Amino acid sequence: MLYIGCHLPSSKGYLSMGRHAVSLGANTFAFFTRNPRGGSAKPVNEADAAAFAALAENQGFGKLVAHAPYTMNLCSADPSIREFGRNMLADDMKRMEYTPGQYYNFHPGSHVGQGAEKGIEQIADALNAVLTPDQTTTVLLEGMAGKGSEIGSRFEELRAILDLVELKEKMGVCLDTCHLWEAGFDIVNDLEGVLEQFDRIVGIKNLKAMHLNDSKNPMGAHKDRHEKIGEGHIGTEALVNVVNHPALRELPFILETPNDDEGYAAEIKLFQSRYTD
Ligand code: FE
Ligand code: FE
Ligand code: ZN
Repeated sequence: MLYIGCHLPSSKGYLSMGRHAVSLGANTFAFFTRNPRGGSAKPVNEADAAAFAALAENQGFGKLVAHAPYTMNLCSADPSIREFGRNMLADDMKRMEYTPGQYYNFHPGSHVGQGAEKGIEQIADALNAVLTPDQTTTVLLEGMAGKGSEIGSRFEELRAILDLVELKEKMGVCLDTCHLWEAGFDIVNDLEGVLEQFDRIVGIKNLKAMHLNDSKNPMGAHKDRHEKIGEGHIGTEALVNVVNHPALRELPFILETPNDDEGYAAEIKLFQSRYTD
């Protein structure tokens, strides 16, 4: 079963997102837990979350992959920004429990001159302060393109964060095809080699979700510019191979391509039609 969807606007709540997903042919989706740039969040409506749970069950949805706001930087050099991020993370963990058992993905952060080692410690400190043994949400570190001082474009960095987190069973990784490519991983010509490397360093069992994007840039560009499927430097065939790979095919796939509804529906249809039984 291929679980595929896209990033959806969240302002109208869970049931609305669920219906939107169904209308696109999706059986999972991503959404921002709050304004991606700001910090405030509307309280979760319990009835809405329950109505969504019924729809998701009915439609055979896979796990959702919620996305933390971009303003969350757990390893900023500025302590007040770290504090702000930690508070958002704690609040998001509470909010996620209204839809139990889903994924919550975040960008590890940018160390802005402090050095990767310091940044990695700060990220792990925040996770250790916030995660609880009874939470049902799995928190995913997103692999990054390596723009500026971003942490997480190297598998060793993802591994180092996971090593420092105490509640390891609450953690996982989400890889993004655009980010992998722009970080310098040749998923077009050597997907097998890239996944072997990931398995060796991070462990394939830690990979819980995929972001499915083409890239506007050549391999190793470190710019993080997503492109529509088939219109970038990765291309349709390489991405079809990603979706069908034995180690990946059961994971939820989230499109984050620059598209409208029609474009997303077409991309979802494309991957469903190329998914091998
Ligand atoms: Fe992301
Ligand atoms: Fe992504
Ligand atoms: Zn990106």
